[in-house]
Amino acid sequence: MNSVFFKRFKLLFLLLTLPTFWTACNRPSVISLEGRTMGTSYHVQIVPVKGNSLSAQKIQTAVDSLLTVVNKQMSTYLQDSEISRFNRLRSVEPFKVSPSFLFVVKSALQIYRESDGAFDITVGPLVDLWGFGKKGQRFTPPDSLLIRETLKRVGSQYLKILRDSALCKLKPDLEIDLSAIAKGYGVDAVSRLLRSLNFRDFMVEIGGEVFAAGSKQGRPWRIGIDRPQYGAQPGVFVQAILNLQNRAVATSGDYRNFFEYKGKIYSHEIDPRTGFPVSNNTASVTVIAPDCMTADAMATAIMVMGAEKGLKWVNSKKDAEAFILLRGKDGKLSETMSSNFDGFIAR
Ligand code: ADP
Ligand code: MG
Repeated sequence: MNSVFFKRFKLLFLLLTLPTFWTACNRPSVISLEGRTMGTSYHVQIVPVKGNSLSAQKIQTAVDSLLTVVNKQMSTYLQDSEISRFNRLRSVEPFKVSPSFLFVVKSALQIYRESDGAFDITVGPLVDLWGFGKKGQRFTPPDSLLIRETLKRVGSQYLKILRDSALCKLKPDLEIDLSAIAKGYGVDAVSRLLRSLNFRDFMVEIGGEVFAAGSKQGRPWRIGIDRPQYGAQPGVFVQAILNLQNRAVATSGDYRNFFEYKGKIYSHEIDPRTGFPVSNNTASVTVIAPDCMTADAMATAIMVMGAEKGLKWVNSKKDAEAFILLRGKDGKLSETMSSNFDGFIAR
């Protein structure tokens, strides 16, 4: 679905779980699945249910087919996906889309409004221009004139939903990029699938975005937040561990998809209002929410808004919490968080 989505490992994350072991009756205490989707990896852990004899193989096939469908809707890396066809369209004619695609776009527009335009799925052309998209990497900032030109075709106000079934561009060269929200949507979709298969206790993770349902061995799921060290792989340095039950968590950061030019870091989180990568001192943002799509989008939004505005927004919302790591001038990290985040930190 995007640069990171399809190119690299994810920002945060490590799941702290015991390896699967077998009980006396040869049933695993946890069914573990893993695979690739959206340019990254996914992991699923399921606590088996008595009487549910679905094999791991069957569940994996169902998960993979579901994720293939999501990719065919939302991946800009597939030429024939709905999103790619919409992006290629150079017209203001309505373009019919699937209900799932429409649902994600609607949710994205809601976050766009709530974040005062900090989160904006029409940012795609800027993402490509800065070398974080499908057009290949770059290691120097683009020409400022080009940035200004590209900005003219960015803005969710130019994207309209028609008759609850179609999208319409008010500017023919508008394009969308769902990379900051689609992994979260994918996590929710897999979670719905597992519920429909009658599982109640499971954990789904795609590229570091997580939903944890129920519990594992009578305790909440334990999910790690990575310490944002430039270039570090997920799970190597853990900043905090969260206890999660029926909640999603997502992290965005400046430390895994970036380039450095003349001593300055340019990361893939782009302020759609200026056309430049964000340059506040926010190193990473972790959001807990009831669903992973919202957590994913909010984490990106807060990266762009910065800690002060971001926390104000989160604290005004029921059901969302955020944990922010700030980078000081000396490179030292400091933590700040929303009113009730602390209750999720495992001690
Ligand atoms: P990751 O993909 O590592 O999970 P995010 O969820 O923060 O990270 O998504 C970042 C991606 O979202 C970028 O690579 C880019 O494709 C896109 N993006 C960048 N800036 C914005 C923005 N302001 N609003 C929406 N999407 C953005
Ligand atoms: Mg995101």
